[in-house]
Amino acid sequence: MQNQNLWAPWRMDYIKGLDPAGAPSPQGCFLCEAAKVTPGSDEAKRQLVLARDGRGILMLNRFPYTNGHLLVAPGDHLGDLTDLTPAQRAGMFELVAVGEELLRAALNPQGINIGINLGRCAGAGLPGHIHAHIVPRWNGDVNFMHVVGGVRIIPQALEESYAHLSEVLARVAR
Ligand SMILES: [Zn+2]
Repeated sequence: MQNQNLWAPWRMDYIKGLDPAGAPSPQGCFLCEAAKVTPGSDEAKRQLVLARDGRGILMLNRFPYTNGHLLVAPGDHLGDLTDLTPAQRAGMFELVAVGEELLRAALNPQGINIGINLGRCAGAGLPGHIHAHIVPRWNGDVNFMHVVGGVRIIPQALEESYAHLSEVLARVAR
């Protein structure tokens, strides 16, 4: 695919028209809610939180691109990498590494996508609270961007996935 639309000045009107804040407050932010749960509790299970400590949150995405799609976020409601302290950035990326290790141990993927979307036009569903996506990949699976629209999630599959990943995390946790 060519990058012919990377420079497209007529899109500026559209971009300027987007809600510049677009950021939900900490009230009603599912990541802030996740930051309050006790690890291992029923509430953690309900919110799909796999780990929550001083480094931040590691959880399953309720709207995954694929089975095992994880999210990592700092515990504080901050929108950009530059908002985080160096310690918060370090903690967040420690949890990203835990997520990588967890997926390798639990699902044996052939590859992993790790990414952060800043701003709604970049694809962030929750622009006010920065989070990294960790998505396991297998040879022959659908294109990362093409899977976004078409996945239907069965709640039971999420619960099973949560139980499996929790059990494996207890072995690989660090
Ligand atoms: Zn938040």
